[in-house]
Amino acid sequence: MLKIYNTLHRKKEIFKPINPKKINIYICGVTPYDFCHIGHGRTFIIFDMIIRYFKHIGYEVNYIRNITDIDDKIINQAILNKKTIFTLTNDMIKAMNKDFKLLNLILPNFEPKVTECITEIINFIKKLIKKNHAYIAKNGDVMFNIKTYKNYGCLSHQKINYLKLNTRINVSSKVNCEDFVLWKYDASNQTFNFKSPWGYGRPGWHIECSAMSYKYFGKKFDIHGGGSDLIFPHHENEIAQSVCAYDSESYPNYWIHSGMVMLNSVKMSKSLGNVFILKNILKKYDSETIRYFALSSHYRKPINCTLKSFDQAESALRHLYKALNNTHEIEDNTNYTKEYDISFCNAMNNDFNTPKAYSILFKIAQKINFYKKNRKDKIVNLLATKLRKLGNILGLLNNDSSYFLNKKTPTISTIELDQINELIIIRNNARKEKNWILADKIRERLKKMDILIEDTLKGSFFKKKHK
Ligand SMILES: [Zn+2]
Repeated sequence: MLKIYNTLHRKKEIFKPINPKKINIYICGVTPYDFCHIGHGRTFIIFDMIIRYFKHIGYEVNYIRNITDIDDKIINQAILNKKTIFTLTNDMIKAMNKDFKLLNLILPNFEPKVTECITEIINFIKKLIKKNHAYIAKNGDVMFNIKTYKNYGCLSHQKINYLKLNTRINVSSKVNCEDFVLWKYDASNQTFNFKSPWGYGRPGWHIECSAMSYKYFGKKFDIHGGGSDLIFPHHENEIAQSVCAYDSESYPNYWIHSGMVMLNSVKMSKSLGNVFILKNILKKYDSETIRYFALSSHYRKPINCTLKSFDQAESALRHLYKALNNTHEIEDNTNYTKEYDISFCNAMNNDFNTPKAYSILFKIAQKINFYKKNRKDKIVNLLATKLRKLGNILGLLNNDSSYFLNKKTPTISTIELDQINELIIIRNNARKEKNWILADKIRERLKKMDILIEDTLKGSFFKKKHK
């Protein structure tokens, strides 16, 4: 029985899906104005782990992750870099996709962009105005009147009077100083503003997720997730908008929030330098090392990140791969390893307790090492098969063990690694399309770089040729 901590009720609750077989999950995505950092990496690895686990326990998952491709931060960054908004967001989305592919994140079923959902957003705002939940302020912005929603504050558990106020907007133009923008009036520049019944402008940040989740899921769905920094005001405002527009009792049934990444105990932010930009970490560390690190503390807890933490994650993973080395996957018709399935699922069913799940992987590794010494090959292979299977549920142990253990010696430069990964992705696509000529050509090209490709059922692995 899966229990999930629901931020809305501040307690663990038994998960009951709306539809017994298929669940709808909406996760707030990225605002592509710069490269993704380890904070994004951890958030999306966490939700990837959660989705993988739902799939493992038999659910079909309908997963939406949006892209906020119009926003003040984007506009400012584009002006600063003398780029158009489109070029900037396009470049950053491409970079994000590259990072996420390397991180082996499951693709969302739909990935709507704000600029492609303007009609839905306008219709949503129209509905709120019609129901007297929104009004046009003196400065032309369309505002949500929070006093019209009696449960405002239900998610962040704050009373209106005590709310941390966002005072960026001129208070005199609002009915209540806590009211927030649904449509930002701006007739100054039509290249990044859109036509609406309220003049040129662009959507406020919160309205997009209400409009997009409604577009794909309707007024009620199973799970909404995001980083814990989104609880207030973003998610609080989403609830107000969605419940008021559609007279819905609730919005999603469960709210899941992931803990923040701290850098040397300071909250992750852009100003802390580019060392923790994902694409740079991915040049130095294997993507499984980053995943291992991201899931090494419970998903709701903040995690402290230093360069040393990746070294520790790598050495923990190496320990597991060492246990897998020189073993074979075999069919398991016995009940010999069943106890590990049970304890692994117990850990995961308890609000996705990955540190506990890791401890079970280490227990198996310890047993493997013990039986290796005693040369009990069949037991070793049974345990190794189980270890890999359970690791795979978390998106780990997908590599060939000799690749993982040997990849540091001989060394592959980061530039080479970039090229190799790119070529392997192209080759995998060629193989999928049965374009054997192209696949062979790439294999030959990699061979010239002293890279040997091994194709297995789990995908292609590469090794540096020993000279
Ligand atoms: Zn959102």
